[in-house]
Amino acid sequence: MSKAPSLVNLIGHSRDSLTQYFTAWGINPLKVKPFMQGLYQKNILSFDYIEGLSKQDRAILKEHACLEVQKLSKPLFSNDQSVKWTMPASSSMVECVYLPEERRATLCVSSQCGCALKCKFCATGYQGFEANLSKAQILSQVIGASDLLMHHFPAWQAISNVVFMGMGEPLLNLEEVASVANLLVDDYAYSLAKRRVTISTSGIIPKILECAKRAPVGLAISLHAPDNDLRNEIVPINKKYPLEELIPALKAYLEISKMDRVVVEYVMIKNVNDSLAQAKLLANLLKDVPCMINLIPYNPNPFVDYTCSSMEQIEAFTQYLKGRNYVVTVRRTRGEDIQGACGQLVGAIKSRSKVRKVVC
Ligand code: SF4
Repeated sequence: MSKAPSLVNLIGHSRDSLTQYFTAWGINPLKVKPFMQGLYQKNILSFDYIEGLSKQDRAILKEHACLEVQKLSKPLFSNDQSVKWTMPASSSMVECVYLPEERRATLCVSSQCGCALKCKFCATGYQGFEANLSKAQILSQVIGASDLLMHHFPAWQAISNVVFMGMGEPLLNLEEVASVANLLVDDYAYSLAKRRVTISTSGIIPKILECAKRAPVGLAISLHAPDNDLRNEIVPINKKYPLEELIPALKAYLEISKMDRVVVEYVMIKNVNDSLAQAKLLANLLKDVPCMINLIPYNPNPFVDYTCSSMEQIEAFTQYLKGRNYVVTVRRTRGEDIQGACGQLVGAIKSRSKVRKVVC
């Protein structure tokens, strides 16, 4: 983004912040509503075309502010109708993916360029951490995807769900992520129901509780193992925030946020975490946590020699959990042919020297 330093980029400002800004410049704060609706609901990125502003308002805004979004790459279309974009960030790239289904369409956005947490099954983790994305950069993904849908594929499903499950650990960029999540559910902006916005974390406990207060939307936990020994290996942040502290934090999240359940993500890796004994441990671990369990067939990436559990094993695992009265879904793999599936997002690794093997 190349805005002149003196201009304030209004992309990502909250309703309150815009009200203060308009008031400070003598613009009627009642104009914040049509301003935000024009910007986020109609994707209008010019002060000249947003409705409800006077000639004088436009002149003031053009002199002091801007609406700068970062351009996405040309879209990559998958055979299964999902779409992936890249976006320059830091010295690398981040990625976002549009996943249409029959009655909804989910946009999976990135919150960081790379990731420091090195989950063993995840390509992003091998990239290392480069930078947090700003709220304008995160929103650029939503705005860019919406633009393609509105102007090129109006018959396609509009974005009905946004998940912070792309590159990065959202709760390590909570300030910016919370701002965007709150805009996604703001009636003046995207007006999505809270349960249609999901922040996925690998389990940063202090931030889980902060998130419950600052952005009480859906929470997904990347669990992937039913005991500390295995989780320490697959999701190394577990060494700092072990399961006996994580489980109470999830319950506290529900209590504070008033959401009714968390989503438990569990990637199915052959002969690693997919036995029925592990299903039993998982059922016991989650017995007091209102949740929905989402089993994710492992998607291959070049950094680790895991393979996906067989469909028979995934089915047996599913049936065991259902028998214990859990709501279980098996995620359909999407976008694998464009490297857009879960765990495959890697941006552009510039040199092999940046690729690190995880030592657990
Ligand atoms: S799964 Fe999420 S937290 Fe873990 S390395 Fe990948 S991006 Fe980071």
